[in-house]
Amino acid sequence: MKISVIGTGYVGLVTGTCLAETGNEVLCIDIDKSKVEKMQKGEVPIYEPHLDVLFHRNIKANRLRFSTLLEEGIEHGDIIFLALPTPEDEDGSADLSYVLGCASDIGKLLKKYKVIVDKSTVPVGTAERVTKAISSETDVEFDVVSNPEFLREGFAVDDFLKPERIVIGSSSEKAIELMEKLYKPFVRSGNPVIIMDEKSAELTKYAANSFLATKITFMNEIANFCEKVGADVDKVRAGMGTDSRIGKRFLFPGIGYGGSCFPKDVKALYKSGKDSGYDFDILNAVIKVNDIQKKILIPRIESYFNNDISGKTFAIWGLAFKPETDDIREAPALYIIESLLSKGANVQVFDPEAMPNVKRKFGDKISYALNKVEATINADALIICTEWSLFRTPDFEKLKSNLKQPVIFDGRNLYDLEEIEKEGFYYSSIGRKTIK
Ligand code: NAD
Repeated sequence: MKISVIGTGYVGLVTGTCLAETGNEVLCIDIDKSKVEKMQKGEVPIYEPHLDVLFHRNIKANRLRFSTLLEEGIEHGDIIFLALPTPEDEDGSADLSYVLGCASDIGKLLKKYKVIVDKSTVPVGTAERVTKAISSETDVEFDVVSNPEFLREGFAVDDFLKPERIVIGSSSEKAIELMEKLYKPFVRSGNPVIIMDEKSAELTKYAANSFLATKITFMNEIANFCEKVGADVDKVRAGMGTDSRIGKRFLFPGIGYGGSCFPKDVKALYKSGKDSGYDFDILNAVIKVNDIQKKILIPRIESYFNNDISGKTFAIWGLAFKPETDDIREAPALYIIESLLSKGANVQVFDPEAMPNVKRKFGDKISYALNKVEATINADALIICTEWSLFRTPDFEKLKSNLKQPVIFDGRNLYDLEEIEKEGFYYSSIGRKTIK
């Protein structure tokens, strides 16, 4: 099939590449000229495991092309995916200006029947608004489908190629048939394609993300309570997670959820609720608790240094909002860096993939180490913000000799308490006793 993807970020580029991999002719459109030029030269503009192999293979096979021209995209694709940003607006709602602006441009360019697929995460009722935006510009027949994306950054290619489910929201049989044909190669193992109305599809995505954010936040509160009463959250987690109704995943406490989705999606669902006269009390609490959790290490760090960290130097391991991505949007590390800087501390950081993005944000306000060991040289303490595998088994002797004193604040519970005690560190983690 001929497919166009408008917006080639984490979702659009993975969507385009994976659809090309199953034999479709894909044209990706992006407004960002320099990004498109990079991709045309064969450079993958983001870090996403396994993407580069598929990207290069499909460019070589001429199944994957890039352009800045929307009119080319509208001409090319029988199915046109919108993978555009829906960032948080000032009032917490999803900013639909990218999606609706593009819809009205599509209306101006439409010459024959197309299926317009909304892959961006959008509030209930957006398919209707997209339909209106297009039809106010044209009389040509078209269908709008809501097809929310559930891929996880860091596993995006695997998730797209082997999705646990595909959700298609549409009232048009013609569009549903086309979508089912397109996705058939991805669900050969029998995972479901769930067909529903547009509004339910739109809400499914927000409900899923908000539920996951709530699960993490609940566990963060249990962890905070563990610290108050002397329980160990690792043991509580193991005891809870073996209950199949609860499950083992998403029970790891830490310094809050971040990323390009959970923070904005929870807020957008909360705001949608308000706009419809419904108060999502749970989501209100989730937002509040997560804001506090992101900065939970700061008072501990200050207290360790007698409430004066000015002039102290902190090593930070991990900047991305989670491992296996270079995405730093809403990453807890950013809040910690900002807070340390505002209190007069120095910061030296290391992350295997996210350093260029952090450099663009902080410039020379912090220093950037070439590796995890270098980041710790002459630091007063180490702070761990992202659970990259390479931080899990450090050379503790080297760490001790590099740090001015053996102090670790671990926002991701990477180390075994007994081991770290034997190594002689002061070690503060989340929901477990502090090793002094
Ligand atoms: P992104 O910011 O990484 O990418 C968006 C891309 O769209 C950018 O390359 C930008 O240059 C381009 N763009 C902006 N305006 C454009 C226009 N008018 N025409 C063409 N291109 C334009 O965003 P993302 O992370 O890929 O997210 C896209 C959508 O998918 C959002 O709604 C997000 O909530 C949703 N989503 C994201 C993820 C994720 O893990 N990142 C997962 C599921 C769903």
